Amino acid sequence: MLAEELRENLQELKQEIKETAERVGRDAKEIKIIAVSKNQSSSSIDILKEQGLKVFGENRVQELLEKNESLEGIEWHFIGHLQRNKVKYLLRMDNCKMIQSVDSYRLAKEINKRAKKNKRIMPVLVEVNIAEDENKFGLKADSACQFVQEIQKLENIKVEGLMTIAPYKEAEEVRPYFKKLAKLKEEINNKGFSLKELSMGMSNDFVVAIEEGATMIRVGTTLFGKRNYN
Ligand SMILES: *Cc1c(COP(=O)(O)O)cnc(C)c1O
Repeated sequence: MLAEELRENLQELKQEIKETAERVGRDAKEIKIIAVSKNQSSSSIDILKEQGLKVFGENRVQELLEKNESLEGIEWHFIGHLQRNKVKYLLRMDNCKMIQSVDSYRLAKEINKRAKKNKRIMPVLVEVNIAEDENKFGLKADSACQFVQEIQKLENIKVEGLMTIAPYKEAEEVRPYFKKLAKLKEEINNKGFSLKELSMGMSNDFVVAIEEGATMIRVGTTLFGKRNYN
């Protein structure tokens, strides 16, 4: 995509975040953009980076590693289903700053082990399958609290919040799911935790997600245009 278009997309996105935040009495600075760059070119990523975007999200380890080879000054968040045998590649990268998709104790233990090896504390989010969609990964809402309790005992992991992928529907239809995730975070925090982050909202529904308390929105298409799957 042309540099000019990418710049415009980013400006429009920022404007929409600002207007939405103002409308619901939030500070736009609380809302971080995770630019989802899967299937997008390194040159497009570079242009957005030059425009001040720092954090990019990828859902495949191999693709993230390849892009990381050709780019500098990027912080990565891993946002896809993660196999345990690939955890080591992410934990070796100082600029892989968060794993947003922790959905099992075995995965958490592996992240902890590799974090220890690399002498770091890895920030993670717990992925919740808030709509109980059988095609999606993530914990059930009613087991999330106990799960946070368990994995927070692992010394080299820091649970910073919750993440969800809402069903692909009209934005208004997914509002109840975002509300439910926000409420779940509060319930967990009432038990003595201090989770900060709510990663929810994508290109089609980030406005509603912000209205319901998102602190991270994961947007691909809105920034980069349609993904090229060839
Ligand atoms: C692809 C993807 C996104 C971004 O989707 P868009 O609709 O292009 O904004 C967000 N989150 C996850 C986990 C994804 O895989």
